[in-house]
Amino acid sequence: MKRIYLDYNATTPVRPEVLEALLPYYRDQFGNPSSVHWAGRQVSGAVEKAREQVAALLNCSPAEIVFLSCGTEADNMSLKGTVDALGEKGNHIITTAVEHPAVLETCRYLEKTGCKVTYLPVDSDGRLDLADLEKAITAQTVLISVMWANNETGNIYPIEQIGAIAKARGIRFHTDAVQAVGKLEIDVQKANIDLLALSGHKLGAPKGVGVLYVRRGTRLTPFMHGGHQERNRRAGTHNVAGIVGLGKACELAMAERESTCARVKELRDRLEQGIFARIPQVKLNGHPGERLPNTLNVSFAWIEGESLLLNLDMKGIAASSGSACTSGSLEPSHVLGAMCVEVTLAHSSTRFSLGPDTTAEDIDYVLEVLPPIVQRLRDMSPLYNCGKVDACETCDTVKKL
Ligand SMILES: *Cc1c(COP(=O)(O)O)cnc(C)c1O
Repeated sequence: MKRIYLDYNATTPVRPEVLEALLPYYRDQFGNPSSVHWAGRQVSGAVEKAREQVAALLNCSPAEIVFLSCGTEADNMSLKGTVDALGEKGNHIITTAVEHPAVLETCRYLEKTGCKVTYLPVDSDGRLDLADLEKAITAQTVLISVMWANNETGNIYPIEQIGAIAKARGIRFHTDAVQAVGKLEIDVQKANIDLLALSGHKLGAPKGVGVLYVRRGTRLTPFMHGGHQERNRRAGTHNVAGIVGLGKACELAMAERESTCARVKELRDRLEQGIFARIPQVKLNGHPGERLPNTLNVSFAWIEGESLLLNLDMKGIAASSGSACTSGSLEPSHVLGAMCVEVTLAHSSTRFSLGPDTTAEDIDYVLEVLPPIVQRLRDMSPLYNCGKVDACETCDTVKKL
């Protein structure tokens, strides 16, 4: 059976060049980079080289890079560490309703400890109104946290403008850039970012390694307590192989991002146009233009996203119903909820996320097998064209598609 992977926003395969670069650190280069002897020295240079590779991609100094375990840890450390370090200034955080759970659930936890959190709303395309951000700022605000790009819809947020607002008001700015790194140009100076989270496994590096960029001079309480690794910002022995792999992935992203993204966007557009040409009553979730080049989130009216995914899986196609982190729950996506997508349409949403290995043949295969699956599931649905058009909110919504 064909195997077609269209779930790159959930995780990516390790790139062959990355695997090659990191394998020695699982073999003879086994030292602890904090050791002073030859075995340690052998690998400490590799960690520092990776730090330079990451810093080059973000346009910051290597000393501002903190290696840790994943994007979730970087987000947690940014929020909890800021509240802890700046507690005497205030306890108010501004974020958005569409953040990844790594930020949202951390905010919910912080609310329980007495913090105030403002969740900025989005419009039906998923966009923020920056006037809402300005209005939400108070003397107590210690942090603005807005994701660079959304994992479910691919929506891109105006990070440079938000960074300018944060700087003008003297407020710290964190961005979850896990989906943006490798797909968009990232410049922490230009965007006035103080804290930025990224994750290896979304970028062609292995799972279990991430980075927090911390602007020089930013007071941040560490999350892990123990040894003096990472200039006392993150205790724990380095994941040397993961770090080396992440460095290599950043180097590749730097060299290839533009050409890869142009190719991936062409394929994404081919998929999007193909779906809209072949299947009626489909809704695009997200902003048509201000979107990652690799992401397509669509609702197929009348059917359950989960049934569609199972049927695609039987044809060898891996896609997702929104976020891998929320699958398994029957709640519709909080992102689509914040965009006021009608609830049955939210349940029928499906995310296709492409990557550097996606081919035109993959897309054509999806366009061949998808329409009959959708039609079969619709024919089975008791709701499909239920006839009560005037009384039914779904019929009403679908009529306008
Ligand atoms: C995947 C993801 C995370 C979490 O990263 P992990 O390394 O899997 O913990 C955080 N934010 C966004 C936007 C993501 O897509």
